[in-house]
Amino acid sequence: MKLRDKKVFKATLAGTMTAAILTASAVTAQPQDRADAASPQTQNVILFVGDGMGAAQRDAIRLATVGEKGNLAMDAMPYVGLIHTSSTVPVTDSAASATAYASGVKTYNGAIGMDANKKSVKTIMEYAKDKGKSTGVVTTSQVTDATGAAFGAHVEDRSKQSDIALQYLTKSKIDVILGGGEDFWYPAGNPGKFQDEPAEDPSEKSKGTQGNLIDKAKSLGYSYVSNKADLQKAKGGKLLGLFSNEEMFQQKPEGEGDIYNPIVSLPEMTKKAIDTLSANKKGFFLMVEEEGTDEFAHQNNAKMTIKAGQQLDQAVQVAKDFAKKHPETLVLVLADHETGGFSIEEANAEDESGDGISKEDGPFQIVGSDHNFVVDWTTSGHTAVDVPITAMGRNAQLFTGIYENTEVFTKLKQALGIKGK
Ligand SMILES: [Zn+2]
Repeated sequence: MKLRDKKVFKATLAGTMTAAILTASAVTAQPQDRADAASPQTQNVILFVGDGMGAAQRDAIRLATVGEKGNLAMDAMPYVGLIHTSSTVPVTDSAASATAYASGVKTYNGAIGMDANKKSVKTIMEYAKDKGKSTGVVTTSQVTDATGAAFGAHVEDRSKQSDIALQYLTKSKIDVILGGGEDFWYPAGNPGKFQDEPAEDPSEKSKGTQGNLIDKAKSLGYSYVSNKADLQKAKGGKLLGLFSNEEMFQQKPEGEGDIYNPIVSLPEMTKKAIDTLSANKKGFFLMVEEEGTDEFAHQNNAKMTIKAGQQLDQAVQVAKDFAKKHPETLVLVLADHETGGFSIEEANAEDESGDGISKEDGPFQIVGSDHNFVVDWTTSGHTAVDVPITAMGRNAQLFTGIYENTEVFTKLKQALGIKGK
């Protein structure tokens, strides 16, 4: 043993002993046993939500990006689990799912940070704030859309997006807010930075119900940006970036005006969020969502679902690069539910199921091979199948096994060393 190694040995003696015990009992150990042996607290959490991204979506993204022998950043992680996704009904929506992850309760579809009795439930980001950590929401959807909202707001219905925005600023005090959905921050008649009723979707226009929330944000010390150059230049610990009227893409069936080309990419937003939040010595909790994987799956548009998934994977790589330098960081990649009944089939002329938007998409080339695959769909809605979770970093071992969505909250609390209610 070299001197350098000795120091490491001393510093991690307790951990090494725990590891030895675990190794001895690994054959019979259940996930819960491993959870009981949690290593020291997680300082930073970066939680990725591929909205609607089931196991088959992850495979299609993999085959189309790195091929049969390759590994996506989101898959090249040491711990894996499966999550049951039901809300109070078998097929969840994003609001109830994110509320289960953020607050540990099964609730009705549409609920944001509220239980089935419409009582507010504290979110993991609010717990993190109590511990002095900074918090952030990054998404290619409206920043106030269901997934982010359930981490930083409490409303009876997900459609109340201006209420959600106001709560971000004044209640949960989320430090970094980056994504789309400017329409909910400006009152009707004030287009903001993105014009009302644009050609690509004339239904988009300002419809805020809580006054000018951009002015409000500025008065509370947020730097406000609306393009990539200003985002990169922005300084300070509180940052609001809104980069589109609604979603940062146009969800349509393939070839019918479908556009996935955000003016700031998810990896770029993720990088800026991490750079900003990591200035806090007490750590941070960041939720990063790719929304295109859900909305394009609703359109049964495999090409754009895959394209959005590739951006998510690049964003995960950004987080992994940070986590490698900061091992006290936990990185998780999961989905809130599966969308579309997505499956991967052999490329042949026969389509076994569906027509219209649900007809097979493709063929897509498997990178690095002469094989193809096609994507087939069973629904334009969500499904109740389990979704994978992959994990790396401090306390990532807690996330193995097969468990309910509500347990993600329990495990996050345990990882962060949060006790009590
Ligand atoms: Zn959906």
